[in-house]
Amino acid sequence: AKASRRGGVCFFSSELDDEASERRMLEGDLREAIEGGEIEVAYQPVVSSVTGQVTSFEALARWTHPQRGPISPARFIGIAEESGMIGLLGTGLLLRACRAAAAWPSDIKVAVNLSPLQFESSGLVKTVKAALALSGLPPQRLQLEVTEGLLIRNVDHTFAILTELRNLGVQILLDDFGVGFSSLSYFERFPFDKVKIDQSFVAKIATSPAARAIIQAVVGLGRTLNMGVVAEGVETPEQMQALVELGCTHLQGFLFSEPQAESAFRHILRPDRDE
Ligand code: C2E
Ligand code: CA
Ligand code: CA
Ligand code: CA
Repeated sequence: AKASRRGGVCFFSSELDDEASERRMLEGDLREAIEGGEIEVAYQPVVSSVTGQVTSFEALARWTHPQRGPISPARFIGIAEESGMIGLLGTGLLLRACRAAAAWPSDIKVAVNLSPLQFESSGLVKTVKAALALSGLPPQRLQLEVTEGLLIRNVDHTFAILTELRNLGVQILLDDFGVGFSSLSYFERFPFDKVKIDQSFVAKIATSPAARAIIQAVVGLGRTLNMGVVAEGVETPEQMQALVELGCTHLQGFLFSEPQAESAFRHILRPDRDE
């Protein structure tokens, strides 16, 4: 702890020091983990509201620190973004997810999250093309999830890259819709394939008429624009029922499965093999 003004112990500033040094340490360890290929991918199923079948899996990054155990992706993705490592990390995760999905049944897609910063370096389209070529995954089976944080930056540049990606045959999903600075004008400017309603609306569905109305409005928009609507964070049968009634086309959440290692889904992903 630092000695502070007037002789008192200023634990506030020492907490900040701890936070900063912990972050530096994590940053160094993260660099090693990325370079050593230690970042894993967990997969969470997305289910069709109509058939109840799994139509895709979202790839979610996982890092287990050798001493500290699991670190949340919200934290280490943030560190990777701030320290210039997100390009390397994102490219590695994309390739891994495409390679995994290439071995799945051909009617199951994989969804990969992209950081807004991955759009700032020039090579994103090349990176995606390379991941498809190296894995042999048909572009139609890759979904890229982007957040609206991307769209408040350099809008014209961003929409140009999204258009190039979509022209490859890849699907583009708008993630976490409804939080932050969502604007309906995004849908006028770009034909998203799906929109994912943020889980905060799903969590409030039973108690908030406004949350229900917002979901209903997005579903209406989706129908008109021929855009699927995915509800995230579905945890209870009651939520599921309400979301199906409201017309969400796809559902994702702990009710169906937590994100897990690929091997946990062998029964879905390798249906013909007895293991
Ligand atoms: P996200 O893209 O919105 O991912 C959904 C998050 O909700 C995941 O958290 C998932 O585990 C969690 N989730 C799924 N179903 C439920 C549910 O029923 N209830 C609740 N309470 N949570 C549920 P996770 O894996 O901790 O990831 C957090 C965020 O970190 C992601 O939010 C995404 O923004 C980011 N992230 C994760 N992996 C990657 C990645 O590979 N690349 C990038 N750029 N970001 C990633
Ligand atoms: Ca996502
Ligand atoms: Ca989300
Ligand atoms: Ca989120």
